[in-house]
Amino acid sequence: MAPMQISTNLVAAPSRVRQTTFVALAVCLAAIVAACVIVVAGLTTSFATAPFSPRVQDGHIPEGATVSLDDDHLPAIGKLDPALLSAMREAATDAAGSGLDFPVASGWRSAQYQDWMLRIAVETYGSEDVARQFVATPEESSHVTGKAVDIGSVDAQSWLSQHGADYGLCQVYANEPWHYERLIDPGDVCPQMVPDASSAREG
Ligand SMILES: [Zn+2]
Repeated sequence: MAPMQISTNLVAAPSRVRQTTFVALAVCLAAIVAACVIVVAGLTTSFATAPFSPRVQDGHIPEGATVSLDDDHLPAIGKLDPALLSAMREAATDAAGSGLDFPVASGWRSAQYQDWMLRIAVETYGSEDVARQFVATPEESSHVTGKAVDIGSVDAQSWLSQHGADYGLCQVYANEPWHYERLIDPGDVCPQMVPDASSAREG
C-alpha cells in the first residue's frame, strides 16, 4: 500500500500547485482590474470637478499684463473679428497723436472662459440675475464671437466715447464704458446703449 500512497501524493502535489497558482493569478488580476477601475474613476471625477483656470489660449490676459492691439500672436487679439480689430487699430493710431494708448483689457474669449467668468460672477453676486448684468452667457457674449474688445484706459474710453462712431465703434452697455463693438459703418450714428449685458439688444 505504501507505494500507492506515494504515487497518489506525487500526482496530487502538482495539481494543488497549479490550483494555488491559478487562484493567486486570479487574485492578482482582480486586484489590477480593481486598481485600474479606481484610477479611471478618480481621473474622470477629477476632470469633471477640476476648477477651470483660464489660459492664454482661452483669450485670458493675465492680471497686470499690458496687451496692445498689435499683439495678435495672442488669441485674445488674434481671434478678434478683423473688421473690429482694424477699426480699433485705426482709432488707436489717430488717438496716439493725442498721447493716448489703447491697452486691451479683454478681447476674444473662449466659451469655456466666458462660462467660467459667469460662474465666478454668480458666486460673487450671489444671484444669476445680478451676475448677468455684468457678464453675458457664452451663447450671448460678443467676446466669444470676437466682436467685442474692452479698452483698459479711462482716457482712451473717453476718447472713444467722442470719436468711436467715426470708426464704426460703439459703446454698447451703459454700465461698461470700456466695452466696444464695431456696430455701424464709420460716421453713422451708434444705436442707443442698453443698460447692461442682461438687457435685450436691438437687431
Ligand atoms: Zn466687454
